[in-house]
Amino acid sequence: MANPIPNAPEAVLSTLDLAGNRKWIYPTPSHGRFWRARLIVGWVLIAIFVALPWIEIGNRPAIFLDLARREFTFFGLTLHPTDSVLLMVFALTVLMAVFFITALFGRIWCGWGCPQTIYLEFVYRPIERMIEGKEVQRRRRDQGPWTFDKGWRKSFKWLIFAAISVSLAHTFVAYFAGWENLLEWMGQSPAEAPAYFAMMAVTTGLIFFDFAYFREQMCTITCPYARLQSVLMDDDSLIVSYDRGRGEQRATYRDRRKNTDVLDLDDGEVRFGDCIDCGACVRTCPTGIDIRDGLQMECVSCTACVDACDYIMDSIDKPRGLIRYTSERAISGGDTKVSRPRLYLYGALLLILSTVLVGLVSTRAPMEIDVQRVRGTTYNITNDEQVANRLSLRLRNRTSEAGALEVTPTAPEGARIRIVGAEQPILQPGELTRMEAWITVPEDRMPPGGAVAEFEFRIHDQLVETVQLRLLGPHDNAH
Ligand code: SF4
Ligand code: SF4
Repeated sequence: MANPIPNAPEAVLSTLDLAGNRKWIYPTPSHGRFWRARLIVGWVLIAIFVALPWIEIGNRPAIFLDLARREFTFFGLTLHPTDSVLLMVFALTVLMAVFFITALFGRIWCGWGCPQTIYLEFVYRPIERMIEGKEVQRRRRDQGPWTFDKGWRKSFKWLIFAAISVSLAHTFVAYFAGWENLLEWMGQSPAEAPAYFAMMAVTTGLIFFDFAYFREQMCTITCPYARLQSVLMDDDSLIVSYDRGRGEQRATYRDRRKNTDVLDLDDGEVRFGDCIDCGACVRTCPTGIDIRDGLQMECVSCTACVDACDYIMDSIDKPRGLIRYTSERAISGGDTKVSRPRLYLYGALLLILSTVLVGLVSTRAPMEIDVQRVRGTTYNITNDEQVANRLSLRLRNRTSEAGALEVTPTAPEGARIRIVGAEQPILQPGELTRMEAWITVPEDRMPPGGAVAEFEFRIHDQLVETVQLRLLGPHDNAH
């Protein structure tokens, strides 16, 4: 892979000058075929992101990360901290999917799926262009003094940005709090729901700061995935790259006419590459880099430079693809290898983890059950000659619907159970319920010293588990 920092040690981040100050970027939009495809994908993803907390599956939002109750719902499946193995396998599966996709398709997530890119390129920047004008105007105005024109445009833009950030913050927080709660809090005053207002103020502030100011620095400085991807990718991963062999020796039309600084080949012929050094690919880049310097960590694979260069190639009657999706190996003249050890390893691990995950989900019991004798108690003999043991039950309904609990003792013979406070308690979905119960066994059926009891637990008329528990009884049944 190419050196990510060309011309070191002088080079710094494309968005910083040599003194470390921020260089504001004014990327020009390139409305080519990739931009159109990304626009569609982007708006579909925005629609999904906004809709998911509203869509209910089994009385719960499709995705609901209830941190307060430590419940995580994914499309009807609610996981609790006791599902730690399942949660761990799920997290590892997602991680391995990221490894596999990055090794195969490079930073496709950054350019096509990341909310940072989608909201910045298809929501915030278009609004900025609408209010403050094209890039040249914005740059000139930003560098000039504060005037009424500059003042109202900036204020109006920030107002719209703030409104979008508020709505985005609510959508984001809805994944953790649920819309039902949010709507209730929204109807209250800050004094009644201070936590809600504080949370919204902080989330909105961070989103506003990110999209109004921080922008590409999120990708180039903060995002850990940008660092990780250089380890996950290899020479065969899909990248956006400039075809040096075809583009060089680059030269502007003026230089071509002057015939200066061009490659003088052995045959004495003076030849130029297809790059006319117009700079369109640099002007359109949202992270401010020049793709012609080779693969760089700041490249988010957004394909804007591909669209920009394709447009130039069309105008000068050259084939498209001087900048294109390719791989390091292909650009150096080789053939991209799809079949390679790294992909086999990631693919095999992904397959194993997904199989384990599907197995765990499909065999997951609909109820979590824990039955113990109440600590510190022993048996009682009742007036009707029954040996009674006091039990503590800790149960969680893992399904998405409330259900009546049924507990049936099947051994020893004649055993009966009575739940304290309710004959057939209703277990609410996801809720942990603690209760106590008495189990009685006729004294003449209880072996000396006690016996192992068996209980069948049912919910929604479905047998969940048969639990065994040692009961205490008298050693001498004569009394
Ligand atoms: S847009 Fe294409 S032709 Fe223009 S500078 Fe970039 S690579 Fe060269
Ligand atoms: S170099 Fe091209 S693909 Fe990479 S971020 Fe810049 S415009 Fe996007």
